[in-house]
Amino acid sequence: MRFSVLGSGSKGNCTLVEAGTTRLLIDNGFSGKELIARLHSIDVRPETLTAIVVTHEHDDHVKGIGVVSRRFNLPVYANAATHRAAEQRVGQVRERHEFGTGESFTINDLHIHPFAVSHDTADPVGFVVSDGRSALGYCTDTGTITRLIRHHLRNCRALVLEANHDLQMLQQGPYPFPLKQRVLSIQGHLANNDSLEFAGCLINERLRALVLAHLSEINNDPNLVRAEARRRLPTGEGVQVFVAEQWRAGPVLEIEP
Ligand SMILES: [Zn+2]
Ligand SMILES: [Zn+2]
Repeated sequence: MRFSVLGSGSKGNCTLVEAGTTRLLIDNGFSGKELIARLHSIDVRPETLTAIVVTHEHDDHVKGIGVVSRRFNLPVYANAATHRAAEQRVGQVRERHEFGTGESFTINDLHIHPFAVSHDTADPVGFVVSDGRSALGYCTDTGTITRLIRHHLRNCRALVLEANHDLQMLQQGPYPFPLKQRVLSIQGHLANNDSLEFAGCLINERLRALVLAHLSEINNDPNLVRAEARRRLPTGEGVQVFVAEQWRAGPVLEIEP
């Protein structure tokens, strides 16, 4: 199984996951043109995509779903509440599939388990995607790491995890007070601190590849995240740590069983 974070942040999110001939997109917050360019940069033809799975209805996750679904005949999988909430933004899609939060489903070679996260939308989820040999966790847009999230991500070999803001940068930064409160709330976004503490626990379990994602452009700094990760995460265990970027696709990472 392989994956690549094609872009991440408040201006757009999309991650490609593939096993065998199955190629899924998790969310798409990019225009059709932008997505095609990013896929091209990692040598993937958009005609070979299989489906799109959706975490929640915020614009940075859904605004490019409709156009890509229609153009490349891609079915769209989301829970009922997210489909409903995203309907206006997404428009017609090729095929609309509903999953239940907490209920696993299969798309060709991939098993997908959607689990609840803590965010201010209708029914937000993260995913564990598995090919039966190894698993990738995807968990962004959550204000806190719940016991349920811990439970589901414990056995992942690779993880895309939110590291949204540095607490001090957010507190001293230019956001108006209500927006600061929203980001900080347990239904907001995950701080670097909380993210790295959780990632540290997972590295002691099975985690080998970590992509820190959904960094705020205002309240965070990729170099700071990298430095903090080096300082706080256990090293010398063959663990690879990456920071996802907003403006270009990251590397294609192979997930070892
Ligand atoms: Zn987001
Ligand atoms: Zn969101």
